[in-house]
Amino acid sequence: MKIKLITLIIWVLLMNRTLIYSQDTVNSCTITYIANDGFLIETNNSKVLIDALFGGINGNWCDQPDDSISDLMLNGIGPFDNIDVVLITHYHSDHFNGPMVINFLRNNQKSALICPLQVDEVLKKNSGYSSVADRIHSLQSGNQFDTLLAFNKINISALRFNHGSYFEIDSVTGEKYDLHSDVENFGYIIEIDEFNLFHCGDASFSDKSHFESYHFGDRDFDMVFLDRTFLRKEGQEIMNSLIHTKDLVFMHIEPGRVEYYKSIIKDVPGLSVFTKKMEIKLITE
Ligand SMILES: [Zn+2]
Repeated sequence: MKIKLITLIIWVLLMNRTLIYSQDTVNSCTITYIANDGFLIETNNSKVLIDALFGGINGNWCDQPDDSISDLMLNGIGPFDNIDVVLITHYHSDHFNGPMVINFLRNNQKSALICPLQVDEVLKKNSGYSSVADRIHSLQSGNQFDTLLAFNKINISALRFNHGSYFEIDSVTGEKYDLHSDVENFGYIIEIDEFNLFHCGDASFSDKSHFESYHFGDRDFDMVFLDRTFLRKEGQEIMNSLIHTKDLVFMHIEPGRVEYYKSIIKDVPGLSVFTKKMEIKLITE
């Protein structure tokens, strides 16, 4: 009887080992669409949340996370448990919400945050900031900026790109000016468990010089996330000459316009859009 019990224990241990071993060897990366530019990127060992902690936007000009999903994110409930790093590309309200980010960091004590200094300045105005400040890695960037950080074996490169232009007329001078010219917008290269991804934030489709200066032509990606405006002529030129990727996802698509963008890209292999919130794409090696 004793021998049988020992045999059973060894068998259970071996089974567990086999299961763990097989999980480790199947290398895959799951991308979950949250809303707008917001995604959860997860592999067997790591999780990154980018531009997903926002909401409460008036109007219907962008997709925003459903309340039920925001609750899961803020409370670190699966699939949003054990997030290693939260990335924020820039301070606009369709990419981050100050109280939500502070709330998230308070509830998820192991998560770090990377963001531009302009985002940190907004976060500082929220109560509870001091209790999470040691996990906020804010980066002050010049117009040309490229830096590498590492968290739990995830390598994150933050790269400054020009934010897409938004022109208004100055009421005093009558001159046209770009409302977004001073926005610190980061694109992030995310190296996670052998997978290499790039998310451009709200980078301008005409910012070819930054893509060139960061040597994008020499890089290979598994997935690249670009603003929908890259489908314009100048953006297509950047994609054709400087972006090498297996999959390319267009994001920042207005509610109700998904079918239009799907129809534009339907004949080009490797291009896609997410069609509904919490939809998943899987990348395998
Ligand atoms: Zn923006």
